[in-house]
Amino acid sequence: MTTTRFAPSPTGRLHVGNIRTALHNWMLARQAGGAFILRIDDTDAARSREDYVEAIRADLGWLGLTWDREERQSARLDRYEAAFEALRAADRIYPCYESAQELDVKRKIQLSRGLPPIYDRAALQLSEVERAAKEAEGTQPHWRFLLDHAEPIVWDDGIRGPQRFDPAQLSDPVIRRADGSWLYMMPSAVDDIDMGVTQVLRGEDHVSNTAVQIQIFTALHAAGFAATEGAANTLPAFAHEALLVGREGKLSKRLGSLGCDAFRERGIEPETIIALLARLGTSQPVEPIADRAMLTASFDLATFGRAPAKFDEEDLERLNAGIVHQLPFEAVAARLPEGMDAAGWHAVRPNLAHVAEAAEWWRLVTGPITPPAFEDEDKAFLAQAATMLTWGENPWGALTTALKDATGRKGRALFLPLRQALTGMDHGPDMGELLPLIGEAEARVRLVRAAG
Ligand code: GLU
Repeated sequence: MTTTRFAPSPTGRLHVGNIRTALHNWMLARQAGGAFILRIDDTDAARSREDYVEAIRADLGWLGLTWDREERQSARLDRYEAAFEALRAADRIYPCYESAQELDVKRKIQLSRGLPPIYDRAALQLSEVERAAKEAEGTQPHWRFLLDHAEPIVWDDGIRGPQRFDPAQLSDPVIRRADGSWLYMMPSAVDDIDMGVTQVLRGEDHVSNTAVQIQIFTALHAAGFAATEGAANTLPAFAHEALLVGREGKLSKRLGSLGCDAFRERGIEPETIIALLARLGTSQPVEPIADRAMLTASFDLATFGRAPAKFDEEDLERLNAGIVHQLPFEAVAARLPEGMDAAGWHAVRPNLAHVAEAAEWWRLVTGPITPPAFEDEDKAFLAQAATMLTWGENPWGALTTALKDATGRKGRALFLPLRQALTGMDHGPDMGELLPLIGEAEARVRLVRAAG
């Protein structure tokens, strides 16, 4: 069964970049009839906050990205401990005693010699006696995973194609801090094994993490760590998507922090965000597709390009109008002005770029309206209109046909004074739909008043 996961760290709100990753993982799972896991990566106790966890849930809920299972890293510390022991027993973990300053100096020396700043494994050379001496001095070790340099790390990336890393060009990653807390690298692999994750889709900033994690997965598999029920004992498929950038070519601070609240306040619909992010950066056209099942069915990693995906706020506005024009009454009823029914929504919907604008047009129905001052000729025409107004299936069609026959007016001369008299505006929703909503008595009052 296809199982994907979205693994945010609750150290802030979701922004467009991680909303996109969440969506794509959701689509992969839904498309395959599989499971989508929300995994809260909260091993960093100092920076993780419960209100962010709640905000992440609320944002995913607003976007309609439902998850089948929620997991939290903070509830799984015993599993990380077990994985740590298994890797240690297999000699794949070693203690290190360098301070951050010492490591920094090492890096600077390497860089000044034109060498890549790769950890030199000095701690691996320490004897038992030297280690004991460090600890006697009160230095607690942090722990690194020992990369196997024997073979290149390879995988076939779902977006980037064949990938190859020389492990000797990577530093052995620190997986555990001196205070016993966990860094991202190992717990994530442990979770992906335990939760039976079959596809890992994330941003390309994680490509080198994947290289390291492939060795962690393999070492855990070899240590028999995947023996629990539901665990995966093969590697997940990996795919890394190009990052989002703004129109200027990089993800600006403002765009990078743009999240659901900002979208909601601007009247951007969840379906607009879904339609845009489902296809941005792919070879498929970005269109106002409100049918999520259709977007999901057409979602395909093979259509993703390697170039950064350009996020353009004007696209968002354009798409939003296209989406709003398709939204059914039930989807927006709670956000419409009081008294506005399905017929009202249908009448004004084509004129909206945002749902909230429905109220402005609805005022044309409920009034009061202020018509312009008319020339005498138009006044006479409107007085005649008031007498000719009849009420049936299609009062606007009947009125305009009768007036055209009676006065010889046509086009703008026929329609504009009527629209102005009836709505106070010279443009707006289709009069054929508006007039029945205004109602016979009120329409007559408005025509008579305009004629006066
Ligand atoms: N918590 C990690 C992040 O937000 C998850 C990365 C992953 O998908 O493995 O970057």
